[in-house]
Amino acid sequence: MSIFERIETVDKRLKKANLNDFEDRIRKLILIEFAQRGKAPKIGEIAGMYGYPLEMVKEAVRKLEEADVLAVDEDEITFAYPFSASKTNHAVVFEDGRKVYALCATDALGIHFMLNEPILIVSECPYCRRKLEIKLEDGKIAFYEPDEIVKYVAIEKKCGCSAKALCPFINFFCSREHLEKWKKDNLEYAGGEVYSVEEAVKYGKSIFENLLR
Ligand SMILES: [Zn+2]
Repeated sequence: MSIFERIETVDKRLKKANLNDFEDRIRKLILIEFAQRGKAPKIGEIAGMYGYPLEMVKEAVRKLEEADVLAVDEDEITFAYPFSASKTNHAVVFEDGRKVYALCATDALGIHFMLNEPILIVSECPYCRRKLEIKLEDGKIAFYEPDEIVKYVAIEKKCGCSAKALCPFINFFCSREHLEKWKKDNLEYAGGEVYSVEEAVKYGKSIFENLLR
């Protein structure tokens, strides 16, 4: 059984959170704005744009944070799965050139299925820093380069929310060989799981495809 079947991924957390219609609407608006702007909208902006009382929006965001669907620092959203407000190792570029950062390799792949838009993922091998590209289009892989890319999920003891506990350790590597070399230098993360790009796409899809439906 893959780690993605064992851990509570964001789609499962969302089901468990049992959001009301308003909370779910706020959640979706945050994701849509995040994708449009390439950065997190402010909570006050969401309230202003749609004419919702600020306190109601804040309360909804608090519930979403409790459910580990997003995180807030003061009034700033720092991440909302799959998007990160700060730079990560996984840039996602849309056809019109706008760019957003994904929390991890799985989330980057999931963005295509959540938005139904062609995306180019630009990532970096943690071992050699080589640029890695994966393009997704029409629900499929259009290409990836280099052709030996693998995805690695380091198993970490769970501590707090999963963006902190897991996401930084889900990465693409340029090859199996470089993954093995990286593991020798990072023994605390050596006990992980390796996936092909095709398998990784399958998990990205199953976690994120219904997040905006
Ligand atoms: Zn490499």
